[in-house]
Amino acid sequence: MRQCNGICSRIKAKHPIRKNWYDTGIKWCGTCQLNIHWDGWTCPCCKSKLRTNTIDKKSNDDKRY
Ligand SMILES: [Zn+2]
Ligand SMILES: [Zn+2]
Repeated sequence: MRQCNGICSRIKAKHPIRKNWYDTGIKWCGTCQLNIHWDGWTCPCCKSKLRTNTIDKKSNDDKRY
């Protein structure tokens, strides 16, 4: 099924900037478990959907609460 093929290692984001996270086009792939610099909605490596934000506010609130 969906699995990492190693392609993502070529396009992984070396310097993720939280401030301009969305603008930089850096996205998180949950399957490959890394941030990649890719201008698409699916990972070119594993073909799974990418997240534009690694921080889940809801989960953070739950932990704090
Ligand atoms: Zn991958
Ligand atoms: Zn991937």
